[in-house]
Amino acid sequence: MAYDYDLFVIGAGSGGVRASRISAAHGARVGICEDFRVGGTCVIRGCVPKKLMVYGSKFAHAFEDAAAYGWSGLAPTHSWATLRDNVGKEVDRLNGIYLRLLKDAGVTLHMGRGRFMDRHTLEIGKETVTAEKFLIATGGRPEMPDIPGKEFAISSNEAFHIDDPLPKRITVVGGGYIAVEFAGIFNGLGSKVDVIIRRDRVLRGFDEECRGFVHESLEASGIKIRAETEIVRIEATNGKAPYRLHTRKGEVLETDLVMYAIGRLPNTAGIGLEKVGVQLDKKGAIAVDEWSKTTAPNMWAVGDVTDRINLTPVAIMEGHCFADTEFGGKPRKPDHRNVASAVFCQPEMSNVGLTEEEARRTMGEVKIFATHFRPMKATLTGNPQRVFMKLIVEAATDKVVGVHMVGDDAAELIQGLAVAVKAGATKAQFDATVGIHPTAGEEFVTMRAPRPEPGPAAKAAE
Ligand code: NDP
Repeated sequence: MAYDYDLFVIGAGSGGVRASRISAAHGARVGICEDFRVGGTCVIRGCVPKKLMVYGSKFAHAFEDAAAYGWSGLAPTHSWATLRDNVGKEVDRLNGIYLRLLKDAGVTLHMGRGRFMDRHTLEIGKETVTAEKFLIATGGRPEMPDIPGKEFAISSNEAFHIDDPLPKRITVVGGGYIAVEFAGIFNGLGSKVDVIIRRDRVLRGFDEECRGFVHESLEASGIKIRAETEIVRIEATNGKAPYRLHTRKGEVLETDLVMYAIGRLPNTAGIGLEKVGVQLDKKGAIAVDEWSKTTAPNMWAVGDVTDRINLTPVAIMEGHCFADTEFGGKPRKPDHRNVASAVFCQPEMSNVGLTEEEARRTMGEVKIFATHFRPMKATLTGNPQRVFMKLIVEAATDKVVGVHMVGDDAAELIQGLAVAVKAGATKAQFDATVGIHPTAGEEFVTMRAPRPEPGPAAKAAE
């Protein structure tokens, strides 16, 4: 039977767009559908607008530091509406670029939500398309709490469209990437920010020492972190701010805006997956093998909907590998080892490879090289901020298996070092590299002595 398309992609975010463009370049007839805006979470309501807002908020700290460098007469005020609307315009521009990329690649866009009728037929609104193969790249959505008053809370989706002026008091619930990044944004833009976490520290899953360093730095920057606190009910005043947040311990916290960032859920509902035999894993994500193949014979899935590593560049890698394998005659699997990532909180945190805890759990002896220092820029200003850096080395092989940093431009630095870690560089090769002076980065090649390991008595007492 002749199908309309060789490949049809559901979801025009990072993974879906890359897979469709590359497949088309390999000669496939490709269609794609999208029910919101082409570009996906990253471009439309995630990484890109978030980073622009981080830039916007960082000016506050630069203005504070400027006096020590001789600048005077600075009495800046901030317009949330200007930042929000300028970011919105940039998102529109990028959305246009994504549309053009698809068009130039010869990919046919169908606006609307796709739902399977059978293994080769998809309904998109009133249209029906057929394809030999399908790629599901529907991404994820914010998880929201199931508590009374949840309708008064926003997610990161709405955070980019908050009414002007920015509320004076903002409460962020959650301690992951999104929570700490937005806490930094709102804090820099002048709101009084509370972060509510149910455990003792933010950023679970990251290197423990880095977590501690970020946690303390966020508090030092004026963000109030309320640890071991759970919100059980939200009350509003005539449906509007101020909101009263009732905690499990019986406290009542008043705020003007509540944003939840407690994780994201894969978008698997309403696509008709059950009809075509695409199975989900225990966490509700689409189950895939190492080739991104689902349990249905002609269907694959990439990106956040598969909940492997939920990052844009990973979705892009998975989509590209799929396209090369299925349409390019160049079979290759995505490699999820040593994927670097960054959290754009203030100060920024970035890492590649294993945490100290992971290395100690999975390897024999490990050596830890760590340093913290006052960044040069802060020496004139008296700003109490510090930088933290850490290398984790497997003793038996001398390989650097983890690099971690908290401090300005950590992500830019770690991106370069990720190449070294991916290439299997040893500590001796780090040591043989001449530093660039004066930079923070040179510390990564000048850390000579490993941290003393606790002796057997200390270990037994742990
Ligand atoms: P995360 O999974 O990063 O963190 C959510 C945190 O919320 C958890 O660590 C958990 O902490 C806490 N949490 C979970 N449930 C509850 C609850 N019911 N009440 C209170 N706290 C709760 O999710 P995010 O939403 O921050 O981000 C989603 C994903 O998006 C990330 O995993 C990341 O992959 C991606 N992302 C990447 C960015 C980047 O690369 N810079 C930026 C933004 C997002 P605990 O269990 O310790 O309580």
